[in-house]
Amino acid sequence: MLEQEVRSTLRAEIIVSGIVQGVGFRPFIYRIAVKNGLPGYVRNRGDAVVEVVVEGTENDIKNFLKELKEEKPPLARIYDITTNYVADRREFEKFTIQESSKEAKLSGSVIPPDVSICDECLIELRDPNNQRCNYFFITCTNCGPRYTIIGGLPYDRPNTTMQSFSLCEFCDREYKDPSNRRFHAQTVACARCGPRAYLTSNDGKHMQTEDPIREAGRLLEEGYIVAIKGNGGFHVATATTRSEPIARLRKVKHRTQKPFAIMARDVETVKSFAHVSRQEAELLTSHIKPIVLLKKRDACYLSELISPELHNIGVMLPYTGLHHMLFDKVSEPAFVMTSANPPNSPIVTENQEAIARLGTTVDFFLFHNRAIAQRCDDSVVRLHGENHSIIRRSRGYAPEPVHLKRSSNRCILGVGAEENVTVCVLSKNEAFISQYIGDIENLETLRFLKDTVDNLTGLTNSKVDIIACDLHPKFTTTRLAHSLGNKLKTPVVPIQHHHAHIAALMGEHGIHEIVGIACDGFGYGADGSAWGGEILYCNQQSFRRLGHLQEQPMVGGDLATRYPLRMAAGILDDLEDVEEWLFSNNSHFLYGRKEVEIIIKQLGRGLVSRTTSCGRVLDAVAAILGVCYERTYEGEPAMKLESAATKGKDLLNIPPKLSGNVIDTTSLVQQIFSQRDNHSVADLACSAQSYLARALAQLAMEEADRIDLDLIGLSGGVAYNEYITSTIRKIVEEGGFNFVVHHHVPPGDGGISFGQMMAASFIAK
Ligand SMILES: [Zn+2]
Ligand SMILES: [Zn+2]
Ligand SMILES: [Zn+2]
Repeated sequence: MLEQEVRSTLRAEIIVSGIVQGVGFRPFIYRIAVKNGLPGYVRNRGDAVVEVVVEGTENDIKNFLKELKEEKPPLARIYDITTNYVADRREFEKFTIQESSKEAKLSGSVIPPDVSICDECLIELRDPNNQRCNYFFITCTNCGPRYTIIGGLPYDRPNTTMQSFSLCEFCDREYKDPSNRRFHAQTVACARCGPRAYLTSNDGKHMQTEDPIREAGRLLEEGYIVAIKGNGGFHVATATTRSEPIARLRKVKHRTQKPFAIMARDVETVKSFAHVSRQEAELLTSHIKPIVLLKKRDACYLSELISPELHNIGVMLPYTGLHHMLFDKVSEPAFVMTSANPPNSPIVTENQEAIARLGTTVDFFLFHNRAIAQRCDDSVVRLHGENHSIIRRSRGYAPEPVHLKRSSNRCILGVGAEENVTVCVLSKNEAFISQYIGDIENLETLRFLKDTVDNLTGLTNSKVDIIACDLHPKFTTTRLAHSLGNKLKTPVVPIQHHHAHIAALMGEHGIHEIVGIACDGFGYGADGSAWGGEILYCNQQSFRRLGHLQEQPMVGGDLATRYPLRMAAGILDDLEDVEEWLFSNNSHFLYGRKEVEIIIKQLGRGLVSRTTSCGRVLDAVAAILGVCYERTYEGEPAMKLESAATKGKDLLNIPPKLSGNVIDTTSLVQQIFSQRDNHSVADLACSAQSYLARALAQLAMEEADRIDLDLIGLSGGVAYNEYITSTIRKIVEEGGFNFVVHHHVPPGDGGISFGQMMAASFIAK
């Protein structure tokens, strides 16, 4: 009898990897272990995994494991569970949550992204009988900052920026109570023991107020500019229904046109000024709460200065207790809520730095006294129908990995290109893409990039074997890759920019070979020239350029990117009446007539660099139609052209002109130019977009047919253009091909690090 009993009990040693720390996993394990009558322990480890040991009958353990898989907490992501059965040692009397261990053997697990305030915490925030009523930093096991507060692993309070706040008796009781929602919640705090918010003038002098957050809301409504410290950095905020504060903000920020994101009170309010589909509403209210680009209503009553000359507006909903409280005492439907980053610098995170760098921009500061460990901007998403097109993958997404279909035994780091940089770390079949870092233009952003590499490899316990970077020899990221390669003694693999775009598409969908259309503003070509309208064949070994847009002159190099009339001048050079037109437009050139004369001379000599960029062609059309004469932010002319085209039709219906594998763009631009007085700007803008989409689709299909492949994909920044994307999709699918775009990775350069990593992983196989 005794012998049988001994044989029938076991000890199971279980390792759960994935996103299992910071999501209420230990309390969950505690509950199901107790429920199944299993003694043992659970603990976090330094490699972000959770270790569980239980002892009991095989049946009880099986049941426990079943519940572990099926009833896991909503934020948990399980990538792998390994269970090792050994003889029961009868070591435990009960089940406990043990102190975490520093042990770090495995890689590929990570802590979760920040999670916006949950419904239960929101109810408590409003409940006068609750201890945390009106407490701005109310969080629980299911919500609150995670990635932005973590300094190291395991995810325990001492490793977070909550370390300086010791729990009061009340919070401590909840923290230790297995039946409580805050059982082992590392961010638990209340007004008595937790972070405190306070209001200051723009030179940092404290202002006496009982209710600093609601007072800040009132100041915003009155038209003041307030810098607000959030979870991942500072926002600069102001009212949305009046134009003066936004005009003032634009002036002090030296940001004449770039759209500002706004935060609206609730989804019903959003519907009053923008069109919101069911999918968009779901995304707005999801626990990620990204900025969603929505179409403005014709009767949008918010200031036009929020997103000048664009048909859409970036809107997010409140995602912390603090945000909700800002709206309490005001009738303003929304506030401008833009990342506080000085020109060319990352988002500001420290209080003193904020006073020094934002003090001249803002009227007040709404601070709190909790430090920010990881800087993190808001994410931006656009929906094309039901398809998510991620413009900026940051708060709420990072560092959650993109799950790949295939596993690699090499750990590969991708460091991005130059603009919208992210970094990416591959561990087995999980690709960890960092938060948005920005354009790498100076030492500050470079430092942010380096720190992010350290953090991401540290948090995933990864040891880099291969580094992938851009082919451009002079990019700062390329230099960083080489210096890291020297330091870590790892090979550095340069990846052509558009190859990386298409490799990203292949990685995301688990594709072996594809004909990819990669269209953007600029990428360093395999031949050293400027590419940006490419049709590539990519497989798991390499890529081949199948075709491209016609090469067009860029008069003055980078100046042609900044002033799109220069692109138009170059493309239209052969037309007779162009010189006259340029002179009549000389007010749009920085140096007027003189500049036009120089441009004409340069073109005459033929000494100009050339590009196949799709973005530059769209820019030229935008300039000819008077939609945009100066690019003050990335993509501005093309974005404004898209907005101008929303109410237009493809009236010109210009047949695609291909010479061999080159798409003619001169005839397109010439036709737009010659028809400019005969049709509306909307119809001409639409006709230009349509031509490019139809020509790209046609050439891609011809090439795919030739090599007998039935899969075509689209990547690069131009893929954000809904009209171009849907037109290509329609033609390609009607032609009997399958068509893929990105779902989880940004089509723009925010997805390049992932694509570089993928391309390098193909080579390193
Ligand atoms: Zn909560
Ligand atoms: Zn407390
Ligand atoms: Zn690109």
